[in-house]
Amino acid sequence: MNPAGLLEVTAVRRVTPRTVRVTFTGSGLADLEPWPDQQLKLLFPPPGRPVRLPSDDGDVMRWYQAYLAIPSGERPVMRSYTVRSRDRDTIDVDFVLHPGPAGPATAWARQAAAGDVLGRYGPDPAYRRPLSTADTLVCAGDETTIPAIASILSEVDNAVVFVEVAGAAEEQPLPGEVHWLHRDGAEHGSRLLAAVRDAKLPDGSVAAWLAGEAGMVRALRRHLVGDRGWDKSAIEFTGYWRRRLTQDDAPTPEDLADAAEKLGDSAGWTGN
Ligand SMILES: Cc1cc2nc3c(=O)[nH]c(=O)nc-3n(C[C@H](O)[C@H](O)[C@H](O)COP(=O)(O)OP(=O)(O)OC[C@H]3O[C@@H](n4cnc5c(N)ncnc54)[C@H](O)[C@@H]3O)c2cc1C
Repeated sequence: MNPAGLLEVTAVRRVTPRTVRVTFTGSGLADLEPWPDQQLKLLFPPPGRPVRLPSDDGDVMRWYQAYLAIPSGERPVMRSYTVRSRDRDTIDVDFVLHPGPAGPATAWARQAAAGDVLGRYGPDPAYRRPLSTADTLVCAGDETTIPAIASILSEVDNAVVFVEVAGAAEEQPLPGEVHWLHRDGAEHGSRLLAAVRDAKLPDGSVAAWLAGEAGMVRALRRHLVGDRGWDKSAIEFTGYWRRRLTQDDAPTPEDLADAAEKLGDSAGWTGN
């Protein structure tokens, strides 16, 4: 399947007070192979303009160069999202309407309507990652990770899940052992970190999947490696967003260090 193309909105609904689920149709979606944690780049046009897509010959680097070559007033804004679910030739994407300054993706989702058109790159099978084969998989994240965790839970039955959300109204039905943590105004990530710190995990081999706000992910990883003595290679981690920074802002030194570790660790991701 060609990972680049257009997506047209066919339905929009609120699944929680802060989550908008958008159903998209588009050419190539019916051929999309299913796998857990399918990430894609969505391309949002400047308000009131049609989306202009880069030329595509199947090579991701050339596609990205062509994207950068689009004049800045016409170039779509690119943001990362996850396929929440799919049904033949449609996919659902859940947009968290986060507090604070709305970026272009959140502003778009607030007003999304049937007929709206975005661009996409992905999901691309080249970025597919194998799931851990450890006895227990710990999944931890904030509300932006619910789509990925839901898809992982459809594949594994050995997961212990921790999800921090703004409050009780933000919970969504998920199978298995899920610990919901309510922020209720506390600092983002603090309730999640405390719950993971206090957790008694089953005996046997362990692995973790961590994502969400980047500082929170770092703190979780530091706990698992530093306090619990886990092997770094047992932890898959992704900073999904950064406080006070947009996805377009330059990487911080901590982001660069994370990226270097991910490159170094990727060969060893099998759990321990
Ligand atoms: C692989 C991957 C998969 C992702 N999947 C999803 C998904 O399925 N659903 C989803 O909702 N998000 C998902 N995200 C996160 C999403 O890409 C970011 O939240 C993104 O920054 C939103 O873009 P924006 O244009 O609204 O905000 P930006 O323009 O990027 O940022 C504007 C401001 O909003 C703040 N901000 C951004 N996100 C949040 C947040 N969640 N909570 C509080 N403040 C925030 C920033 O700190 C900044 O101050 C994913 C990210 C990655 C890397």
